[in-house]
Amino acid sequence: MSTDMYETNAWGKKSQETEFEKIKIQRNLAGDNDVSFDLQYCGICHSDIHFANNELGNTSYPIVPGHELAGVVTAVGSNVTGIKVGDRVGVGCIVDSCNKCSQCEKGEENFCEGGFTNAFNYPLVHGGLKTNTGYSFGGYCESMTVNKRYIVKIPDNYPMEAAGPIFCSGITMYSPLAHWKALPGGMNVGIIGIGGLGQMGVRLAKAMGNKVTAISTSPNKKADAMAIGADNFIVSKDADSMASGENSLDLILNTVSAPHELSHYLPLLRKDGTLVQLGLVTANHSVNQFPFLMKRINLSGSVIGGMPETQDCMDFCAKHGIIPATKLVKADQIGEVYKSLETKNDQIVRYVLDIKASL
Ligand code: NAP
Ligand code: ZN
Ligand code: ZN
Repeated sequence: MSTDMYETNAWGKKSQETEFEKIKIQRNLAGDNDVSFDLQYCGICHSDIHFANNELGNTSYPIVPGHELAGVVTAVGSNVTGIKVGDRVGVGCIVDSCNKCSQCEKGEENFCEGGFTNAFNYPLVHGGLKTNTGYSFGGYCESMTVNKRYIVKIPDNYPMEAAGPIFCSGITMYSPLAHWKALPGGMNVGIIGIGGLGQMGVRLAKAMGNKVTAISTSPNKKADAMAIGADNFIVSKDADSMASGENSLDLILNTVSAPHELSHYLPLLRKDGTLVQLGLVTANHSVNQFPFLMKRINLSGSVIGGMPETQDCMDFCAKHGIIPATKLVKADQIGEVYKSLETKNDQIVRYVLDIKASL
């Protein structure tokens, strides 16, 4: 091991076929601009599963997933200001970027023209990070080091186990809500898929002052969806329920994680409404263009958010008491959590890996 590296415990998959197991990985020690922290929790996003299963065809093994990290600072570099040992911090999907393109300059590192480095399974091309494999390792681990730019501060009053999910599922909903002008409120917003992302979408859209419709394949989620802020609940497999919401929504955020037909949801949009695709679904959609003509509706997508906006999302959640429903699990339960999410996240919950309890 080179002198600027250290070894830490992690949980990874050594191949597509094998189960998660405890492995050792190497990361760089904190340089002048870096922050190291010990993890307490890491949320389990459905994206972890897409990559661990090699669904996008680009997974390198061993893979250590996880991009919803929360922990306590153990070391800071000499140039780091505003963060000190003992602070509560987190990291989301972005762990490096080019730092010089117009998007990075604006704080929209999620659209870095050189491609941002995702927390796991991405080649380390920007020079800010080092591992023993040359690609990133995520947050199912004991310790993390990143440039201070990618650190989010967790407010004192905010529960640690709920903070990690803000850094992916929270910001992935907050950013399109802000971009499509739902942040001041007053819009009719639909959220499709009430799982990890969807529950944050409902909570955030409501706290921003919008009328929120939860759109779900799971009738059993109705009571919980209404309890977290939905004003309406549509069962997407029920024709009458879908008809009741026709032409009602200005903005729909679609979090469905499996192949589906997006045309199914277009009747819910009003004139000039927008459907935003968020799931990492590789199968093509076949779209009839008539609704686009007749209602001048828009189809778009969105990917997480930049670092300043991620801090805004964290602070908004703390200010408004938005705390995702989480279920703590240990590392030996990762396999069963993955199976249940693959089938369909049938509860309104974000599973969160309890790192200290897993060591
Ligand atoms: P999740 O907790 O598993 O929730 C996904 C929800 O989608 C399920 O609870 C279910 O909701 C619905 N669903 C699942 N299968 C479906 C099907 N066949 N047809 C219709 N609805 C279905 O997943 P998540 O962590 O929220 O992630 C959701 C997706 O977003 C994943 O693909 C993930 O990779 C992606 N993602 C994207 C970004 C981004 O930046 N764009 C960031 C994070 C995650 P109901 O039971 O309510 O129908
Ligand atoms: Zn995620
Ligand atoms: Zn850039």
